[in-house]
Amino acid sequence: MENKEVIHTDLAIIGAGMAGMAAGMFAANRGIDAVVAGGAGGFEYASGLLDLWGLTNPGKGYCKDPWKGVAQISESWPLHPFLKTSESDIGKGFDELTDGLQQNGLAHTGLPRGNTRIITALGTAKITYRLPLTMAHNAAALKGKHSTLLLDFNGLREFRARFVQQVLASTWPDISIAAIPFPQMSMRSELFTPLMAQAMETEQVQDQFASAVKPLLKGEQFLGLPAILGINRSGEIMKRLEDLLGIKIFEIPTSPVSVPGIRLKETFKKALEGTCVTRLPDQRVLLASHEPGKGFTLETGTKSGTATTRIQAKNCLLATGRFLSKGLVSDRKGVQESVFNLPVAQPKDRQQWHTPGYFDPRGHPINLAGLTTDEKFRPLGKDNSPVHENLYAAGSILAGQDWMRTRSGAGLSIATAFHAVGQIALNRAKASN
Ligand SMILES: Cc1cc2nc3c(=O)[nH]c(=O)nc-3n(C[C@H](O)[C@H](O)[C@H](O)COP(=O)(O)OP(=O)(O)OC[C@H]3O[C@@H](n4cnc5c(N)ncnc54)[C@H](O)[C@@H]3O)c2cc1C
Repeated sequence: MENKEVIHTDLAIIGAGMAGMAAGMFAANRGIDAVVAGGAGGFEYASGLLDLWGLTNPGKGYCKDPWKGVAQISESWPLHPFLKTSESDIGKGFDELTDGLQQNGLAHTGLPRGNTRIITALGTAKITYRLPLTMAHNAAALKGKHSTLLLDFNGLREFRARFVQQVLASTWPDISIAAIPFPQMSMRSELFTPLMAQAMETEQVQDQFASAVKPLLKGEQFLGLPAILGINRSGEIMKRLEDLLGIKIFEIPTSPVSVPGIRLKETFKKALEGTCVTRLPDQRVLLASHEPGKGFTLETGTKSGTATTRIQAKNCLLATGRFLSKGLVSDRKGVQESVFNLPVAQPKDRQQWHTPGYFDPRGHPINLAGLTTDEKFRPLGKDNSPVHENLYAAGSILAGQDWMRTRSGAGLSIATAFHAVGQIALNRAKASN
């Protein structure tokens, strides 16, 4: 006899990356009983910045107004998922999500309708729509090219203050650099930002950090450092250190495994605690089926393939990401969707996946591959009608977008999850009337 937990729910969300967790938060806010099943590995790659649209036209400088870009999408991206929603709903999705994160300790900031530029660990400028509060002074320091001390840590390879200084030297000369051993880790030959951030949660480490930095300050206006200001209380920790040191502090996003990405993941987890949304973390959906009248049956289990839980759901939202997250998989014949084997819009053969120029400004056709949906984000079958009445998709698995090139990763996930969950809420309201 099977000895398996069976969960009955209104909505099964497959995938716990940005789209899946955002969908979980939107479901919780609407009182929709839901289960989020899946890995949250995507967050560890994320910079913590929430992009909306940042594509720059060659020679036109950086994209100041993401909404202008969004309004013009149909000219270059006729199948873009944003065209199935509205500017107003994209904005509402962002606001609801950032409010939810803030209520759980992770505040974001940004211009009401504009992009903000910050420096990265590569010394390059990155534009984004909403940035963690701990990076707000990064934008201010860069904008005014104010005198800044960039801090390095002995043994940390993810960040090199000297490298950033050298890259920026011609445009921002007023940067000085210094290095310190990280408190209580001076014996380690190599440091990792997630460990440093965890250590920063204690006041003892903060105090030792402040004591080590204070003698290095020579009247600079800003202190910049890699993103290490804690995991759960980054805003508070920054404020405390600013008070101790008497200088404005900012974080610089580093490469994966990224502390701001971990913060996002942890904050989403906190936001879903005690709500009508259950998480099945690090469980993959191994098998999925649909029976008319009965809904979806999902078998989840560990990576090794042992099935542990069965989910019976009236609605299902697929948020499994692209190739890196294995929502899409490819072989010699082409690209497949990995859970339901849904039709994937894609170039006719592999020869057409890429254009000859690697840096072709039009991008590569394979990056537009994904699921085609109707206006409600329900994946379409070969006959162009929804495969299942209650199956939805959100995030980077959708066709017609190239989030990496257009710098719209989080925005795409937030807006499509908001729209899809909104549809599910609407159906529930109609059914109960
Ligand atoms: C290196 C990098 C940097 C980035 N930087 C930014 C940035 O600066 N700004 C920005 O806005 N966005 C950024 N992003 C994009 C952003 O983090 C998200 O990746 C993007 O929004 C897509 O989210 P998603 O939820 O659709 O997919 P993903 O984030 O890929 O999440 C999909 C999740 O589904 C899970 N999954 C897959 N198959 C199954 C299954 N069968 N069962 C259960 N779970 C499954 C995967 O484990 C994965 O965790 C970055 C991404 C990367 C990779």
